[in-house]
Amino acid sequence: MEKKQFQAESKRLLEMMINSIYTQREIFLRELISNSSDAIDKIYYKALTDDSLVFDKDSYFIKITADKDNRILTIRDTGIGMTKEDLENNLGIIAKSGSLAFKKENEAKDGHNIIGQFGVGFYSAFMVADHIAVTSKALGSDTAYKWESDGADGYTIAPAEKDSIGTEIVLSIKANTEDDNYDEYLDEYRLKAIIKKYSDFIRYPIKMDITGKRLKEGSESEFEDYQEEQHVNSMVPIWRKNKSELTPEDYEKFYHEKHYGFDKPLKHIHVSADGAVVYQAILFIPENMPYDYYSKEYEKGLELYANGVLIMNKCADLLPDYFSFVKGMVDSESLSLNISREMLQHDRQLKLIAKNISSKIKGSLQSLLKDEREKYEQFYKSFGRQLKFGVYSDYGTHKELLQDLLMFSSSKEKQLVTLDEYVARMPEDQKYIYYASGESMERIDKLPQTELVTDKGYEILYFTDDIDEFAIKMIMTYKEKEFRSVSSGDLGIDVEDNANDSESDKKENQDLFDYMNGLLAGKVTSVKASKRLRKHPVCLSTDGDVTIEMEKILNAMPN
Ligand code: ADP
Ligand code: MG
Repeated sequence: MEKKQFQAESKRLLEMMINSIYTQREIFLRELISNSSDAIDKIYYKALTDDSLVFDKDSYFIKITADKDNRILTIRDTGIGMTKEDLENNLGIIAKSGSLAFKKENEAKDGHNIIGQFGVGFYSAFMVADHIAVTSKALGSDTAYKWESDGADGYTIAPAEKDSIGTEIVLSIKANTEDDNYDEYLDEYRLKAIIKKYSDFIRYPIKMDITGKRLKEGSESEFEDYQEEQHVNSMVPIWRKNKSELTPEDYEKFYHEKHYGFDKPLKHIHVSADGAVVYQAILFIPENMPYDYYSKEYEKGLELYANGVLIMNKCADLLPDYFSFVKGMVDSESLSLNISREMLQHDRQLKLIAKNISSKIKGSLQSLLKDEREKYEQFYKSFGRQLKFGVYSDYGTHKELLQDLLMFSSSKEKQLVTLDEYVARMPEDQKYIYYASGESMERIDKLPQTELVTDKGYEILYFTDDIDEFAIKMIMTYKEKEFRSVSSGDLGIDVEDNANDSESDKKENQDLFDYMNGLLAGKVTSVKASKRLRKHPVCLSTDGDVTIEMEKILNAMPN
């Protein structure tokens, strides 16, 4: 039997592969299963145009078997198989992808589901195996061949025995060393978990023999071993199903299965985009704030799938910070993956998807606000602050998108109002949108500065959150109405006889004002007579852009 050598470059590449491309060893199983799925897909596509081929869905599957004692893990499929040439070309030459070629040849047909493209995934199995044997019988061929390799040293190909069409990959799992333990790749439960994690939505059944113990029949204390074949993957992902087939409970179940949170989702968004970008997404607005939400530990992001195969657990680029509370997943066919398929090339597609998702989330929050006010307020109590941060951040670039979603408590009925609602019920003579900053509503109500505005019957927005005033400064105007702090020197409210009275007040009390100005020099700009007060003798007011409350916050910030 002749032993063929990998080309020198291939040899180096293989070593690199095995040691550095992937951050997690467990993905080898994802790669081998994806290959098996591709191989079955190929029969499926062939059958579409070849009348002599019948694709009977039930006879196609992928089977994983672990033999702990002999440290052997087997992946078997009923796919299209490989000829001797295929084995040589596709497994003998690194970075050669038979699947990519197939996809290109069959572009006219709907060949989108094929996963392979780089021609390297197979070799990831050498991360966990020191010997791999691939026995394969190609569709339309009478002979089977066996490809064997220990990794970097090359491979052999020889005729072999195999009854059915398809491929069987036998991995000899590495022996444990001081630093590395490979036993988990022989453990049925661990394997099952890896399959669920990455390959749950492979369209063909993935089966495993699971062993367990059970009570012997007729006995109450004696146990026996048993083995049963389990179908591990869910196959059809919920996001590919028709919305009309799904109930709110289905979405809730998915939310919990995916461990997005322990709470109930407040709202789900199911997107099936078929335009410039093709993707499916299921997004959730959680009911409760995660305990670490406003801390550095909190990581935003959505799960990202390429063609039903999990690529990233938390793709941060899919969510802007102001929607960082959103949970869920995105699946797309049109992503450019990097070679390890653990990352994306930052491409146009992803940006388009992210933008699209943002507007879906906004739309969904708006409809929550409109149709389910109570729920929206509940949402807002948890995450409103994040929206206000969003308005403020990046110099207010997102204010257009977010300002309609903001709410503040107001002096009228002490309830949350949107800016839109505030402006809609402003009396005609009211010039500005008034707000007052302070620790609490009660404290703000006691502020002398609110007197004049309240007396006029105008509504005041309570700014009790540090971020409120900063966010509003970014918005500047809403529906052409400017925001004005009640502590501002100019409230735009005419007070009768203002000019005359304060002039005479000023003259009468000139000595007192001089004395107070001297006493408070450096602490206030000036002490003046004012007509704005009724019940209170004195109040602070500002002329500039920065209000007293903002000054307090700014002063408290570390330099
Ligand atoms: P990729 O899947 O990106 O093409 P791989 O290294 O995973 O790269 O596989 C290389 C090629 O080997 C595949 O493109 C396919 O042609 C072939 N191949 C691998 N596994 C199988 C299999 N189980 N059945 C049939 N062909 C396979
Ligand atoms: Mg592959």
